[in-house]
Amino acid sequence: MSRPTTTTCTSCGKRLNKKHWYYRNGQYYCKRACWQSAVAKVQNEKAAAETPATPNA
Ligand SMILES: [Zn+2]
Repeated sequence: MSRPTTTTCTSCGKRLNKKHWYYRNGQYYCKRACWQSAVAKVQNEKAAAETPATPNA
């Protein structure tokens, strides 16, 4: 159990190429763009979760 057997991109779900992948914050990504989009998504969700549900009518 030294490494994951089926590693897929956290962002797009693609199988990862053995040589080209990014490992960031415990997640695997097939390319930098996937990592960045995933980071942006998480930050958006965080911001949404931290923001009180009071829509500015
Ligand atoms: Zn990807």
